[in-house]
Amino acid sequence: MSDYRVLLYYKYVTIDNPEQFREDHLKLCKEIGLKGRILVSEEGFNGTVSGTIDQTDRYMEAVKSDERFKDTFFKMDPSDGHAFKKMHVRYRPEIVSLQLGEDDLNPNQLTGQYLEPKEFKAALEDENTIVLDARNDYEYDLGHFRGSVRPDIRSFRELPEWIKENKEKFMDKRVVTYCTGGVRCEKLTGWLLKEGFEEVAQLHGGIHHYGTAPETQGAMWDGKMYVFDERISVDINRVDKRVIGKDWFDETPCERYVNCGNPFCNRQMITSEENEHKYLRGCSHECRVHPENRYVKEHDLSKDEVEVRLNKIGESLPEKV
Ligand SMILES: [Zn+2]
Repeated sequence: MSDYRVLLYYKYVTIDNPEQFREDHLKLCKEIGLKGRILVSEEGFNGTVSGTIDQTDRYMEAVKSDERFKDTFFKMDPSDGHAFKKMHVRYRPEIVSLQLGEDDLNPNQLTGQYLEPKEFKAALEDENTIVLDARNDYEYDLGHFRGSVRPDIRSFRELPEWIKENKEKFMDKRVVTYCTGGVRCEKLTGWLLKEGFEEVAQLHGGIHHYGTAPETQGAMWDGKMYVFDERISVDINRVDKRVIGKDWFDETPCERYVNCGNPFCNRQMITSEENEHKYLRGCSHECRVHPENRYVKEHDLSKDEVEVRLNKIGESLPEKV
């Protein structure tokens, strides 16, 4: 049995004085002993926190005792310990950055139909439905729903633009979106309706809810789900799991994520421990030989050692000018 839990939740509701709320909320979280990251805005809040069973119970109770948040949907994951190092509560203009500008909307007034896991699974199997992944590209690459569309974008923010460019492909179909916990789909599906799409729906509670629902048990999910905490990824499919992640360097099946060693690049790449050592954790030659390469620093590699490693992969240090 795990003694800890990770909570994932959000609520779109007007917060009149977000700065005061932010301060009070941080105090509450610290008093309870939680760790995590919460974003607060005039439009609501969005958080992931970790703590013991008792701490998370107390937190959920405290949140729900506030009339504004009484129906907050908490997704829960067992955990072996904290999933964060610190506790942050920060103000942001939006609880998810989508930057719709003058198209910005309130999902309480306009949003796509909510699908429960079983209905969502039926949508995955329906050929007249387009299932659109509403996350970043590196999240999709580690795991996604079978048959879902991977928009050609690096960040979720670029999604409305991409949809506009590819509108003809989807216009006469039913469009269903999904994301990690559901929050990114709230405004996105509202925006789709505004854009003239007629049948728009979203996976209620996100992939997370789908993976824990007894009626679906994560079926038709391939790979792992990327999460924004120290766990990096979690399992979803408890029926017929497949690995779909591919090693950045040799494309062998892999589910291990690291950030490129060059701090100016930071690319999230899937790679084995073996290849991480072999390629000095650099996604490209430039990143491998970058003077700030964190891998080289952490392992305290001498210039000669770096040279030896590079030679093995057919590369060498740049000539001194
Ligand atoms: Zn890089």
